[in-house]
Amino acid sequence: MERNCLFCKIVAGEIPGSFVYRDDEIVAIEDVNPQAPTHLLIIPVEHAANLSRFVEAAPPALVAKLFGVVGRLGSELGLEEYRAVVNTGPAGGQTVGHLHVHLLAGRQMHWPPG
Ligand code: AMP
Ligand code: ZN
Repeated sequence: MERNCLFCKIVAGEIPGSFVYRDDEIVAIEDVNPQAPTHLLIIPVEHAANLSRFVEAAPPALVAKLFGVVGRLGSELGLEEYRAVVNTGPAGGQTVGHLHVHLLAGRQMHWPPG
């Protein structure tokens, strides 16, 4: 656990989160400021600052599992159409420095994303 990391604190239960999935390695919570009718954040339990740091440090099976959870949650929620996003670094739009995959659904998405 990284000190002063918002998502580490949510995973540890120090800050409340609305959990929709949880196992020893991956959690999924509802985004507190949803940008679509469904907006989930799929988060590895172990701290990784971003996707690049995660793939350097995590076993390949965990990298695969993270994206497996994204797709499976989509299926289990009955979502045929959605957007999965990993913002990386400030210029990539990342504001929380603990890797998370956004799963957004329930409205028409636009491209380019801005
Ligand atoms: P990003 O900008 O890609 O780093 O995404 C961070 C996301 O975390 C944003 O969509 C925020 O709305 C969301 N967020 C911030 N604080 C919380 C919180 N306490 N619980 C759930 N989601 C949060
Ligand atoms: Zn963290």
